[in-house]
Amino acid sequence: MGEIIKLENLRHTYQGYEGQEVIALTDISLTVSQGEFVAVIGTNGSGKSTLAKHLNALILPTSGKCLVGGLDTADPAKVWEIRQQVGMVFQNPDNQIVAAIVEEDVAFGPENLGVAPAEISRRVTEALALVNMSDYRHHGPHLLSGGQKQRVAIAGVLAMRPKCLVLDEPTAMLDPRGRKEVLDTVSRLNREGITVVYITHFMEEAVSAHRVVVMEQGRLALQGTPAEIFSQVDRLKTMGLDVPAAAEVAACLRKQGLELPTNIISDEQLVVALCP
Ligand code: ADP
Ligand code: MG
Repeated sequence: MGEIIKLENLRHTYQGYEGQEVIALTDISLTVSQGEFVAVIGTNGSGKSTLAKHLNALILPTSGKCLVGGLDTADPAKVWEIRQQVGMVFQNPDNQIVAAIVEEDVAFGPENLGVAPAEISRRVTEALALVNMSDYRHHGPHLLSGGQKQRVAIAGVLAMRPKCLVLDEPTAMLDPRGRKEVLDTVSRLNREGITVVYITHFMEEAVSAHRVVVMEQGRLALQGTPAEIFSQVDRLKTMGLDVPAAAEVAACLRKQGLELPTNIISDEQLVVALCP
């Protein structure tokens, strides 16, 4: 499978308030293949949002390279093509909804791309169906729950037909039900073929990914399958991160001498291991 994202020795520095250099990312080399679901975790300030912004050319590397579908984000002539390939969803659903009716909101992106009206209508229908929000097409977004609003925001991005979705803590402001709606939607879209980069501080969400990338102080500290990452309970805790409850219980029981496999990361796996 082809690479959709390729970061090469990416470094990003911001100008701090007193003119000092704030190093947000250093030495990041990472590739994401088409069809992959990559979760990105890391404590506050570890550089996750800065990384996400590079994937959509919202900011440019201080040094190193960021390639999207082979296009260099530093090439001003390619910015629109890049933004069409990579759709972004942010934390706060209220900041992403621009129109007073759901269907107008979803149409906003393709309208800006200059898509013809009949085609826009088709895309809105399709995008709302993909996030299970067809019944709300004519509703006002302000009446929706947080999870529904985020799904409308995702539909707005899908209407631009991106190859890749980048979501920066899309469930941080949602209740457990809204979180489940959003994660289920994203997982299903991924199974249907779209590449996903999913930033989260909920470890249970990262368990659904094919690969987990762990950021620490602007560096890519670890990457591997969820089982490879979440079995490193002590390492993650030193970094200030949680681990899924099942992984923690399993690690605790192993320390007590129980013979359990090291790849337990979900409640189901724990139950099966304990009650074969
Ligand atoms: P995360 O999303 O993991 O919390 P960020 O990418 O937002 O991390 O931030 C990484 C680092 O860059 C932090 O030290 C943060 O304070 C700093 N930073 C982020 N945005 C800016 C900015 N606009 N100006 C200066 N420093 C910033
Ligand atoms: Mg962030």
